[in-house]
Amino acid sequence: LQNEKGAQSAAEKEFENNIRPQEIEDFSGQPQIIENLVIFIKAAKLRGEALDHVLFHGPPGLGKTTLSRIVANEMGVNIKETSGPVIEKPADLAGLLTSLEPNDVLFIDEIHRLSTVVEEYLYAAMEDFRIDIMIDSGPNARSIQINLNPFTLVGATTRSGLLTAPLLSRFGIKSRLEYYNADTLKKIIERSAAILDTFISKEAASEIARRSRGTPRIANGLLRRVRDFAQVLNDGKIDLEITQRALKALNVDEHGLDEMDNRILNVIIEKFKGGPVGITTIATAVGEEAGTLEEVYEPFLIQEGFIQRTPRGREVTLKAYNHLDKKPFRNSGP
Ligand code: ADP
Repeated sequence: LQNEKGAQSAAEKEFENNIRPQEIEDFSGQPQIIENLVIFIKAAKLRGEALDHVLFHGPPGLGKTTLSRIVANEMGVNIKETSGPVIEKPADLAGLLTSLEPNDVLFIDEIHRLSTVVEEYLYAAMEDFRIDIMIDSGPNARSIQINLNPFTLVGATTRSGLLTAPLLSRFGIKSRLEYYNADTLKKIIERSAAILDTFISKEAASEIARRSRGTPRIANGLLRRVRDFAQVLNDGKIDLEITQRALKALNVDEHGLDEMDNRILNVIIEKFKGGPVGITTIATAVGEEAGTLEEVYEPFLIQEGFIQRTPRGREVTLKAYNHLDKKPFRNSGP
């Protein structure tokens, strides 16, 4: 998943940027986060200060980048965007920080992938708006202190579990993005279709929403593909029939589960008789990190009732057996 965005084609990225909401009013869902942000942004503006540092965490495609840009937009400041692995040396960080104007936003995506040295430099920058840089080496080595303009660090991560306590504690605002319900996704799809100047029926929008794994990025991606089918086979109109036909041709799962989701369920059923089985054991069996399973995949499977946590590990539910068309080994959960 770390590669998920990297694997996107340029066309997909451009498409995503075109339909990305820029104003807070166009951002659907996550009501609690929005409500709080509106207050914090207003307060910071009234005081003429930079907004507190913000951390957005949660699974990919739920709107972390989008929200970060909206924050800068609402604050009326510039945003500089980078990502954890791109900042290799403290000097790279210093370069970014010294280029910020007062109250600007520095957005660091995949902030869990910052190197330890860079992260340590970030502490003083976040806390005191200054950075100590070593220049020269050997006997001439000396450190100079650079004062920075006040700024807001907005960090995004799918793996908040990997963040160190000192870094976490420096974010005044921490928001966890949740999966979207089908109604909200439907609204997002209808808005995207309108921007694309494409007709979509209510039923079709609902169908795509239901099969998008609670994720706006997936919903928009499916809309894009379904639109192709509609263009060629249905005069560009997206109705339920063409949608179902397209989703079938695209092999989109009935519940919107992706390949890894299905692999996890399969493994628990086939190798561990439906569970209970520990997360590290499942991780080894599917070839993924336990932390990624826990923070990226499992929450959706639990929320949708395919898996349940028990004191002895994870268990699939009857819904999982039915979904995969398999017979339960013994009494399974609800
Ligand atoms: P993340 O940074 O969490 O991986 P992004 O912010 O890049 O996700 O969002 C992915 C796509 O989904 C973008 O094209 C964006 O337009 C869309 N999107 C995400 N959240 C929303 C939302 N709440 N309303 C409308 N579109 C959204």
